[in-house]
Amino acid sequence: MASDNSKPATRLAHGGRATSDHFGFINTPVYRGSTVLFENSAALKSRDAKYTYGIHATPTTDSLTGLLTELEGGEGTVLAPSGLASITTALLALVEAGDHILITDSVYRPTRRLADRLLAALGVEIEYYDPLIGDGIARLFRDNTRVLFLEAPGSQTMEMQDIPALVAAAKAHTGPRDIYTIVDNTWATALFFRALDFGVDITLQAGTKYIGGHSDIMLGATTANERAWPLLKRAQTVLGMCPGTEEVFLGLRGIRTMEIRLRQHMAAALHVAAWLRDRPEVAEVLHPGLPGAPGHDIWARDFRGSCGLFSIVLAPVDEACVDAFLDELTLFGLGYSWGGFESLAIPFDPNSYRSATKWRGKGPAVRFHIGLEDPDDLIRDLEAGFSSLARCRDNGA
Ligand SMILES: *Cc1c(COP(=O)(O)O)cnc(C)c1O
Repeated sequence: MASDNSKPATRLAHGGRATSDHFGFINTPVYRGSTVLFENSAALKSRDAKYTYGIHATPTTDSLTGLLTELEGGEGTVLAPSGLASITTALLALVEAGDHILITDSVYRPTRRLADRLLAALGVEIEYYDPLIGDGIARLFRDNTRVLFLEAPGSQTMEMQDIPALVAAAKAHTGPRDIYTIVDNTWATALFFRALDFGVDITLQAGTKYIGGHSDIMLGATTANERAWPLLKRAQTVLGMCPGTEEVFLGLRGIRTMEIRLRQHMAAALHVAAWLRDRPEVAEVLHPGLPGAPGHDIWARDFRGSCGLFSIVLAPVDEACVDAFLDELTLFGLGYSWGGFESLAIPFDPNSYRSATKWRGKGPAVRFHIGLEDPDDLIRDLEAGFSSLARCRDNGA
């Protein structure tokens, strides 16, 4: 067992283990199971057995939730079959009909869909706010405001939110409904941003990304502080929200190496981002960990590191030439999600879905995930892509 002041890498190696319960084998095995048998009817009625049914917990899920709770400094963690399912669990834990919730305009797009399609239909008022609003958020609070939803940096567009200012405003608000703060912390993970230490009530991440780390699982994890934990646990139970244990085992397998992978993703992404900044085809690099980039000061104040994910805005160019750039890449795959060992690129246009703010990018935008390849090879790949873009542009295509 890691001691209270062990560093995160040590906790990742030693936390969430119950080795002596498993005959000395280091990893908790996959416990498959729905039914758990009780010794006798007294045990059945007492309801104090450690395990009672597959939905609630198994030794496998306990290993991962225990490790995450320790890493986050939380009261408890619940898992879900995807990152989006974790977001659903967190929101349904807190809201009821008649509540008002504030969501950053830079939020992961499926969160917006969940709010607009499901929560709105259940009678929850949804309002989007400027991710850079800071303590101006207080002006948007109403008597029925229940949730302030944060994500930093923003999905695709990478705005850094001033989380301490937003949390302080939520705590200072006095109304009939207490305001809870939720942060989607998938980008930083607990290693680079311990959200609960900043007063956030619920932090969540898509385990699909860096916990899994190999693009082969779907998983979500939500950790709450003392105040939010009973509500979160109740929501997990009533929703029956539980991932398959095989996925949880792979999450546990992945998280052991998360620190060393993230350090490599960070170094390689900063290297590639700095190279991109000097390219004439690139108007702006959106990577808060890069000195001089938007949000860098807030990032440096609050975060301990950055991951492999960032975006660029290209100098204005026809969409066909962006396609020529993307199609020339051989090491960067074109696909959704991120957080695996491989590099990815995806074009995006926030103007198609933003509602509270206008996207200020003047050219087409591309998001990259920098994987664990050698960054020099990635740069060569991008160079070939830019040559293809230039050929397209100069031919007036
Ligand atoms: C990918 C992602 C999610 C959702 O994860 P899934 O496991 O794909 O559902 C949530 N938030 C952010 C910021 C993400 O990038």
